[in-house]
Amino acid sequence: MTGSVLQPETGTAAQDDRIVLSTRDLTKHYRVGGGMFAGPPRVVRAIDGVTLDIRARETFALVGESGCGKTTLGRVMLRLQEPTSGTIRYRGTDLTGLGEGPMRALRKNLQIVFQDPFASLNPRMRIGEILAEPLRSHGYGTPAEIRDRCTELLEMVGLRRQYLRNYPHQLSGGQRQRIGIARALANKPDFVVCDESVSALDVSIQAQVLNLLSDLQDQLKLTYFFITHDLAVVRQFADRVGVMFLGRLVEVGTTEELFARPLHPYTMLLMSAVPRPDPRKRGEDRPMMRGEIPSPMNLPKGCRFHTRCPFARDICRVEDPGLQTLGGRAVACHFPLED
Ligand code: SF4
Repeated sequence: MTGSVLQPETGTAAQDDRIVLSTRDLTKHYRVGGGMFAGPPRVVRAIDGVTLDIRARETFALVGESGCGKTTLGRVMLRLQEPTSGTIRYRGTDLTGLGEGPMRALRKNLQIVFQDPFASLNPRMRIGEILAEPLRSHGYGTPAEIRDRCTELLEMVGLRRQYLRNYPHQLSGGQRQRIGIARALANKPDFVVCDESVSALDVSIQAQVLNLLSDLQDQLKLTYFFITHDLAVVRQFADRVGVMFLGRLVEVGTTEELFARPLHPYTMLLMSAVPRPDPRKRGEDRPMMRGEIPSPMNLPKGCRFHTRCPFARDICRVEDPGLQTLGGRAVACHFPLED
């Protein structure tokens, strides 16, 4: 577990070798619709100017409501989807400028564990083949070396070698997710995006898989970019948290700070929506999030949270607050919350 800072200014990350991956003003826009009878195409701003540094061996959690751009950001960071603009640097190398060959070579260092282990594993392949595939495609070694590595990977995720002969449907959900993790780790990456990787699992299995991820992080010196909507998991597992709303980061801080004293109204409201174990506190007077999430095709002017914010004032409707550093944290709000 390591502490870390976000640097809204550009140009400093490349010199810092403790930073594994950084983005500068990263955007991903999609054009939708258009045509003879549909009028001009419209633009969906799925990611809209994300600047972020992820440091070696930390777990950085990205939270936000469904549709806020979390998954898109994870995929664009790995260039599984191409960004519209901005830069992504991995250990100082600009991924956005890399051709197919060099990107393919680097890809083994940058991996992803998906949410649904069943959908992400080929049902017609035995587990051994599923694990051998990424090794072969990166020229790992002889067939015997690949077999040994597959066995080693299974042991690493707490499964016996007998499973190499099984098909995914013969495994439980937790075991399948362990295979998803083993496959991601096959080529010894150091940066892993976990995209809602424990969300589909029962709570008890979820805890086991989180413990496994934590042990593997220590053992293999991994850095995690952990995408989730589950704040209880974030609190237990993450070193730092980024809160995303409509394609932008609105707050970044350490897990401890963020849970103890959220600065952005959206962070505070997300946290207050988590059910409380003490029923006496359920009726407490708390400000509420208003209305629905605006469409990413028709973003509000000014602060894009203002249509839902109980603290909005006139300036919020016209001026975008931008992400500012405040006491070592980063927040995009004209009126950050106080104690
Ligand atoms: Fe609310 Fe204004 Fe802050 Fe936006 S800038 S979060 S509308 S107080």
